[in-house]
Amino acid sequence: MANKDVVLVIDDDRIDREILKNILSKDFYVVDYQDAQEGFDFLARHEQDVKCVVVDVYMPGMDGYEFLKKVNESGLKIPVIVATSDSGEDTQVRVLADGAWDFISKPYNAEIVKLRVQNAIMRTEFFAFKKLKYIAEYDVLTGIFNKDKFLKKTRIMLDNNPDKKFAFIRFDIDRFQLVNSFYGSSEGDRIIKYLAMGLENLANQRQNLTYGRIEAEVFALCGEYETEEEVFKLIEDHIEIIKSYNRNFDLVPNFGVYFVDDLTLSPGVMLDRATLAAKECKGNYIDTVGVFKPEMSIRLEKEQEIVNEMVQALQEDQFIVYLQPKYSLETNAPAGAEALVRWMHPKKGMISPGLFIPVFEKNGFIERLDHYVWEVICKYLRKWLDEGIKPHPISVNISRVDLYNPQIVEFIIGLVDKYSIPHELFQLELTETAYMDNPHIMKQVVSGLKENGFTVMMDDFGSGYSSLSVLKEIEVDVLKIDMRFFDSTGTNDGRSENIIASVVRMAKWLGMPAVAEGVEKAEQVNFLGSVGCEYVQGFYFARPMPIDEYEKLVRENKEKTVTKNVDLTGALTMDKLWSSAPEMEILFSNSAQPSAICEFDGSKFTYLRTNNAYKELFGADGVSEGNPMDYIFYEYKNDVLEAFTNAIKNDEITECQYKRRVQQGNALWVSKKLQYIGKVGEEKSIFVANLTDITVQKEVETELKKLKKVMNSGNKDKPKKLLVVDDSELSSRIIKDIFDNSYEVMLAKNGLEGLNLLREYKNEVAVVLLDMVMPIMDGKEFLTHKNADEDTVDIPVIVISSENDEGLQVDMLQMGVNDYITKPFVAEVIARRVKNVIDYNERFRKMVKEYQNMSKD
Ligand code: C2E
Ligand code: CA
Ligand code: CA
Repeated sequence: MANKDVVLVIDDDRIDREILKNILSKDFYVVDYQDAQEGFDFLARHEQDVKCVVVDVYMPGMDGYEFLKKVNESGLKIPVIVATSDSGEDTQVRVLADGAWDFISKPYNAEIVKLRVQNAIMRTEFFAFKKLKYIAEYDVLTGIFNKDKFLKKTRIMLDNNPDKKFAFIRFDIDRFQLVNSFYGSSEGDRIIKYLAMGLENLANQRQNLTYGRIEAEVFALCGEYETEEEVFKLIEDHIEIIKSYNRNFDLVPNFGVYFVDDLTLSPGVMLDRATLAAKECKGNYIDTVGVFKPEMSIRLEKEQEIVNEMVQALQEDQFIVYLQPKYSLETNAPAGAEALVRWMHPKKGMISPGLFIPVFEKNGFIERLDHYVWEVICKYLRKWLDEGIKPHPISVNISRVDLYNPQIVEFIIGLVDKYSIPHELFQLELTETAYMDNPHIMKQVVSGLKENGFTVMMDDFGSGYSSLSVLKEIEVDVLKIDMRFFDSTGTNDGRSENIIASVVRMAKWLGMPAVAEGVEKAEQVNFLGSVGCEYVQGFYFARPMPIDEYEKLVRENKEKTVTKNVDLTGALTMDKLWSSAPEMEILFSNSAQPSAICEFDGSKFTYLRTNNAYKELFGADGVSEGNPMDYIFYEYKNDVLEAFTNAIKNDEITECQYKRRVQQGNALWVSKKLQYIGKVGEEKSIFVANLTDITVQKEVETELKKLKKVMNSGNKDKPKKLLVVDDSELSSRIIKDIFDNSYEVMLAKNGLEGLNLLREYKNEVAVVLLDMVMPIMDGKEFLTHKNADEDTVDIPVIVISSENDEGLQVDMLQMGVNDYITKPFVAEVIARRVKNVIDYNERFRKMVKEYQNMSKD
């Protein structure tokens, strides 16, 4: 039956079967069954071979309708033609409605039967073909062109419009995998469809525009343009559309643009260029659009060179391990070192890891290189031990890529034990950003290493955007704080010092030693010493050096002399202030420190002069703003006035901290250092003020305070109640339904009722779900009261609202709300979010409790 198409005939009437066989067997191989069930079984077994079925309607046992139903239900895609002896329309309509492809009437007309069967077969093949074609050209999830077809269409469009200008744009969503792992892949799919729809709408409004899905959440479009502004405007509008998806999370797109300067390039190359441009801004939260520049291609070529040479370089020992000493601030002597790799290229000289490590991380080669570096360190540690030297511990870097090896912990143990190195001598540095990539793996690796006696350091702490929360999640032993992260702009020195001070203070408080790295100046050393940082690493002490040089350094145990007592206040001195006018002008307006000259009359002060940095920080010059006391929050006014008085009385730099409003309506925390300069006339005194934005520091402190409070709150039972504050009965009911099994749900119809319940059950409420718009007392007021009360301020709140207003969202988050969900509700989303918030709080409590027990011993 292989060379002819098979047609299956099912009819209980033997004569009819014979007739059909006669008609069809010239062109087909006919298989016939008397019984529909047997026919169906055959069909199921030979789905691939049977091209068409002719089935009688009326049969004993399973009839034609039932047969049709079974075929459809089992998903068999074979055309079924129904044979009927009555030509009534009802029967015809019914068989077609039941999924028959066609029908033929008895008695049979040979030509018609043949034609119908052939027709049915052709139609299925046509559909199959179209389906294949569709799959080949369209993306199945979104229904828009796939990469291949999009590139082909683009080629045609460019060829048809040789005189026009085109821009090729590629975009994706930053950290999309987080969305997927957080909200599930069905939510991810929904976002991808949304993005495709946005493109479809865009294309409907324009001519000469092609677009398609490249892969995952990556899309591209190519369109005609006249001015570059027009293109950027289009992208801006599109970013708006993407952001307005708004399922309470921030979708941050990355756009790469290639303004096509050579129409003969293949669209694939154009896509590469746009991709390169997009990578420029990956992970950058301010600038989300990159434009292709020719240098980018050059960089790509350089990367290719690195890839071509790396394997040989490793074989030929071109990679050299350097050590950079870490100094103890107590002894000013070396206390350890970090291993940093160098590439000594025979032709190009020394290549810095900043150039090749990112490339190796992309292609996975870093794993081999790291293993090499680790082994070198093990060998040296062994050598020193054998020589009877008691070596300081050496830390090595673990790349985020290394973490994907499920055996990483075993590997390290195996290596270190091979050389019989005490585990405490081999330390490991992991970057905080690796945590963002894969929190779960990172947690496992860190605890695995710690259980086996290794010391784990969190490298580049503070570079990610959620440093504090990471610290709560992962129990590392040591924090490495990179000084360079905090003043990259050079305009906020004061602020970065405050952040570092807070981080070091917090580390101390949690019993974690801190290593400051990137220390270049004596001032920094003094500063770090004054805030209690134990270890430092940086060019000020020593640069990374070959291992034998390090050996020498340690043997000599050279102390580093540190100049003490550097003036850290950064205040302008009187001399500078009163020196000649043009000089002062320069000094004053270019200083990175927001500064001001003020006048104080005993009961209020005014600004006489402010510098540019001041204007940048506060959005206004302070001089023309009217009475500065007006924008200081009421409760701090006295502190400020007192600081002025004390600065005169004690004649020393006096600091005060206060909260003030700024032009945009936000509030900032400010530290003000006042230096008394002298008197003008009888009543007025002149001061120099140095101001620092300490908002972040204050936030850290608030967090610390919370931590302390949770610690003191002791062993309370796990909160079991969920408080819903919402005037809509419907919403309350939905939420109650979702959580009834896992929590005791309490309902309040307005803020006041909610507040009373909250106060009564403050130790039992796990989370509050809060509507914003309610009669009697609205959500905002509820929050104000809740936050003002020591006992309730820490209970997490999730705001529910029908409003999709981003401004409101930001407001709420500033009021300490933990999360935000919008109506209409999606049950899984709420359930997941509530669980997240509660889990987070519980983990936090647990960590604090463990710490508490630890510090008791
Ligand atoms: P990192 O782990 O944060 O290492 C510190 C980097 O800061 C080193 O750069 C070091 O030379 C530099 N540094 C130290 N003190 C100062 C200072 O006072 N001022 C300035 N401006 N820089 C200072 P390096 O050696 O170029 O390494 C760059 C990065 O490459 C490292 O950053 C690390 O992430 C990576 N890396 C280096 N070696 C390895 C390795 O063997 N394996 C892995 N996975 N990564 C490595
Ligand atoms: Ca490091
Ligand atoms: Ca580092």
